[in-house]
Amino acid sequence: MLKKNIWEKASTEKVSAIMNFAEDYKDYITKGKTERLCVDEAIRIANNAGFKPFESFETIKPGDKIYFVNKGKNIACYVIGEKPIVDGLRVLGAHIDSPRIDLKQNPFYEAKGFAMGDAHYYGGIKKYQWVTIPLALHGVVCKKDGTVVNVNIGEDIKDPVVGISDLLVHLSSQQMAKTLATAIEGEDLDLTLGNIPLQGEEKNAVKANVLKLLKDKYDIEEEDFVSAEIEIVPAGPARDYGLDSSMIAGYGHDDRVCAYTSLRAVIDQGTCEYTTCAVLVDKEEVGSIGATGAQSRWFESTITELLEAQGGATLVKLNKTMENTKMLSSDVSAAVDPLYASATPDIQSAFFSHGLVFNKYTGSRGKSGCNDAMPEYIAWCRKIMDEADVHYQTAELGKIDLGGGGTIAYILGNYNMNVIDAGVPVLNMHAPMEIVSKADVYEAYLGYKAFISKN
Ligand code: MN
Ligand code: MN
Repeated sequence: MLKKNIWEKASTEKVSAIMNFAEDYKDYITKGKTERLCVDEAIRIANNAGFKPFESFETIKPGDKIYFVNKGKNIACYVIGEKPIVDGLRVLGAHIDSPRIDLKQNPFYEAKGFAMGDAHYYGGIKKYQWVTIPLALHGVVCKKDGTVVNVNIGEDIKDPVVGISDLLVHLSSQQMAKTLATAIEGEDLDLTLGNIPLQGEEKNAVKANVLKLLKDKYDIEEEDFVSAEIEIVPAGPARDYGLDSSMIAGYGHDDRVCAYTSLRAVIDQGTCEYTTCAVLVDKEEVGSIGATGAQSRWFESTITELLEAQGGATLVKLNKTMENTKMLSSDVSAAVDPLYASATPDIQSAFFSHGLVFNKYTGSRGKSGCNDAMPEYIAWCRKIMDEADVHYQTAELGKIDLGGGGTIAYILGNYNMNVIDAGVPVLNMHAPMEIVSKADVYEAYLGYKAFISKN
């Protein structure tokens, strides 16, 4: 169903399915504040559904539920189909990294009586949105002896939170005259970490006290932060939004909303004719680069492993598998915002509660860098959505030349597979508090299930 409001004709059963699914999803993003935590939670969900790590299989057969994990930051869950893998896969691919603030490698310093944390932002953010809000610290500190210490401060209601200060309005006449882009500088996104000096310490006693607290709690030294990955993210759980609780306010909907719905689709749908896969990748917000990004050879390597287990992998077979594969690049879209409607022409934009959004292309300055999906393939997807009664819509990323963006779609497209962006519309994208419609979250799940089960 193209461009219809989901709530208008929803049965009581459907409304309660929407609401129940939203509870599961809120739990996922409340726990999944980093890509590593998203993978941990995905592993837990997959294990509960009977999935097992690839290493525990000697041979593979239709119906087998298999997952691969890469460096704690990627997971690919497969359900082996009735047809041979070389006939192609049905893949749902989403990213689990979200814009945030990272601690630098030598983060701790003291200034004007405060212990501070030097930080570097990650991904595209409007910097002014990240000051004066409660923030939590998540991540790992890797010690020389090989231990990996998990850090989590600011989520438990009894935990302290940290934050980034901003100049009081009374003294801001010069700052207020600057543009939104320059009023808060990147180097000023530093964290306030403490104010009590360690007694008996003469130099940098406040910083020393913070380091002592970390030492007591985690048995880590200042130097250990050289090999740490600490992500600073909005503190607190995802919550219902709107007086009618129709929406979800939370951190990281981009793109954990598509990650969760993709994962659940593959897990819940069971055995299909073609082998199905939900793959969750990192580093999309900084270009999909590196060992854990979509450009990594890792995903291709998991498919080679499956081909090998199914009678032998050759380059020819791998290439054929990729060419025969159909994929949805499950990523979020910009939703029409009533306060900024001029940025999103009505007939080319995604509305809340109108379902899964297909983007033929994204890109910027004349589609530069986009994956421009084949119309033949879009027709195939339309048919699936209509046959399964899934609400869907199409969109561009806003008005031409206002900006732009990209996804992982073109990277998989490079394998000569059919791929198109399809995901959930989001308000406040990349802000500390992003918003989605519960109806769209559930509809994306239904759309993904229909897609992977289609012959
Ligand atoms: Mn995204
Ligand atoms: Mn993004």
